Formats: sequence, structure tokens, C-alpha cells
Amino acid sequence: MQDDGFPFPPNHIERNDHGALQRVIQVPVFFHHSYLLETQAPESAFLSKNSRGVNIFSVFQISLIHQPIDAELHMDIHKIIQIPILPAGMVNSHLVLGNRGAILVDAGLPGSEARISKKLSEHGLGFQDIKLIVITHAHVDHAGNALRLRELCRAPVVGHAGDLPFYRQEKQMTFCPTGWFGRLFKLTRAIQQPYQAFEPDILLHDNDSLHLQDYGINGEVRHTPGHTAGSVSVELSDQQALVGDLIASGILLGGIFLKHRPKQPPFEDNPIEVGRTLRQMVERGHHTFYMGHGGPLPATAVKRHASRLCCHDSA
Ligand SMILES: [Zn+2]
Repeated sequence: MQDDGFPFPPNHIERNDHGALQRVIQVPVFFHHSYLLETQAPESAFLSKNSRGVNIFSVFQISLIHQPIDAELHMDIHKIIQIPILPAGMVNSHLVLGNRGAILVDAGLPGSEARISKKLSEHGLGFQDIKLIVITHAHVDHAGNALRLRELCRAPVVGHAGDLPFYRQEKQMTFCPTGWFGRLFKLTRAIQQPYQAFEPDILLHDNDSLHLQDYGINGEVRHTPGHTAGSVSVELSDQQALVGDLIASGILLGGIFLKHRPKQPPFEDNPIEVGRTLRQMVERGHHTFYMGHGGPLPATAVKRHASRLCCHDSA
């Protein structure tokens, strides 16, 4: 989320010395001094005369306002931070920052903890600030590092029972290519690489949802099937959504170029169900969609893509 609504970006959210989250707002301030001598005036000062003809110096400074983020009043402030697991938006995880910490959406490929740690530290955060790990589905670029991240963050992992046999590594996933790139990519066997099995600490069944208030986030994890049977999304009260691989944008795996253009990810179990799920999410009012490959996309682009997928849907 951009810090819209404040006139002088960039504003950001950081942690104060006591560990509480605060929003830092930059405000330009003019100080007027009639007593400054020219030799004392800072470089940013400029000289003018007031109505009585007295010389005054105006000094321009940026003042920082540190605004505490109150738990009750600001449940709706969510900052979404994209974590590049691979460059150029090819593979993304995300952080959703709330008033009491963050949730991590997707754990990335095995061994990607250094990239996640780097992004956390850029925002003054560490693994201890992650209160929940949401795994959108069982493909290796989303779930492959879940076990390691759970150890580092000491946070529970949430996933859906529809993908449980794959989280447990009991069964091979079905990889249904959506085009030539998927077919070629499948031949490399990179997508089929095994990862450390894990058991989600919170397992959603059927159409269960998990409310995120306990983690300082106003939103929920919902079952959004189609890409895989157990795919889930994070839907926030500010109408932003993090949807894993329900939709992608860009070229090849996703990202790189044409990130504004929606596309199917390289693999998709049930395109018609994906179209139906995306259409329902747009109908629920979500305006911005963050994805594992490319993105983010506005609802208009998602709606167009969903209609294309649903064109043979008689349901
Ligand atoms: Zn996937």
C-alpha cells in the first residue's frame, strides 16, 4: 500500500525504541527569523523584507512527525511489502504489516530466508516480528521454505487441507501446463523439486476462514480454490488481496516485462474454477491484487482475465 493521504511522501512505518510501530510523516516547515545574521543563516535560508522593511530569513526544513499506530484506531492500516524471491517480480513473497507486527504470505523457494531477512531489515523488522506465515498453496516457490521460516520466526503456519498431502510430501502434485512455457518448464523438473515436509499449525478445511485480528491485521485468510484445490488468499479490510498464483502477470514465469498484463501462471489445476474464484473476489470489492508472479494488478484487469477463463463456464 502506498502512503496516500499525506501530502509529502515518502512516509513510512517503523518501530520506535520501545518496539511499538509508528508512522513517520515528513512535513515541510518554514521558520522565519528576523535576528539571524547573514553569516549565521543556513544554506537553506532565503532573505526577504517584511511589511515594515525589516530583513527576515525564511529557513526551510523537513520536520518528522512520529505518529504512534494505535491498536484499536488503526486496524485498517496495512502496508504491503513485496519480497523478491527471484528478481524482476518473477517470484514474490509478501509481508503485510499491521499494528502489532507482520504476517508473511508465502515462504518462497528453499534457501530464500536471506532475501526475506534483507527485506525485513530494510523496514527495521526481524524474523521475530512475523506473527503468522500464510502458505497460499503447495508449489515449491511458495511452500518450499515453510519449515525453515517457521523455525526462524517461531510463528504458526496456516494452510488448507486441500493441499495437505503435498505439504506432507506424501504425493506428487499435478502440474497442468497453461501454455508452451509451462510444458517446457515441466520438462526441467524444477517445479517438481521436493522440499522439507511440514504440517501446518493451523489447517483450514472446506470454506473455513481465519480471521487475522489476533495478528494485528484487519482481514482474513480464505479458501480460494482453482490454482490448486487447497489455494488460499489473504483478503484485507482495505480491499487489497494477496492471491498467490490465482493470477499472474508479465511474461514466462511472470514479472520481467508487461507486468500490467494479466496472464495464467505456468500451471493451473482448474482454470474455470480460478475464473469463478477471481470473479467472486472482484465482487467482494477488492481493488488491488498482489501475486506470486508479477503484479500487482487492479480489479479491472483481474475481472477481464476472470471473464476469459469463465467463458465456457455454464455454472
Ligand atoms: Zn503455483
